[in-house]
Amino acid sequence: MGNLWKQQGIPHKGWTTVNVYDVREDGQSEDETSYESCMMCGHEKIRYVHVVSHPDYGEELLVGCQCAEKLTGDYENPQRREKELKNRTTRRTNFISRTWKISAKGNEYINVDNHNILIKEDSTTHKFTVKIDDTWGKKHFDTTELAKIAAFKGIEYFKEKGEW
Ligand SMILES: [Zn+2]
Repeated sequence: MGNLWKQQGIPHKGWTTVNVYDVREDGQSEDETSYESCMMCGHEKIRYVHVVSHPDYGEELLVGCQCAEKLTGDYENPQRREKELKNRTTRRTNFISRTWKISAKGNEYINVDNHNILIKEDSTTHKFTVKIDDTWGKKHFDTTELAKIAAFKGIEYFKEKGEW
């Protein structure tokens, strides 16, 4: 991959961060992860991807932290956003490795902050669904671990909305 920093016609300043995400946010293993490469400098295997846009450039770029800092002129928030994502990964790992109890019907559950999280196995398909309090998730997962990751994301979503 080339180095866009040396290429004409690409603004070097004035970019805005659209999003920052973790390519392993669904708990992917190392093997099943498709890492990104920084579209500006070509640095490979970016896990925390910064999506930036510019009013004079037609497309969004996926870049690493250092290029995001240079492009946005912001030397605080890109690192802060990455740290938040790393903290979330730690929280997710802790959540999954908690001791889950087994209900009378044989399903795994835990109680968190006065909320009940249940992972139910469908007796026919042997797929797993998530129930948080009285709300059933719509997705079906092949393993309890994937279902627990989805439960974690659900909890984080409720917390962000202030509904937890
Ligand atoms: Zn870069």
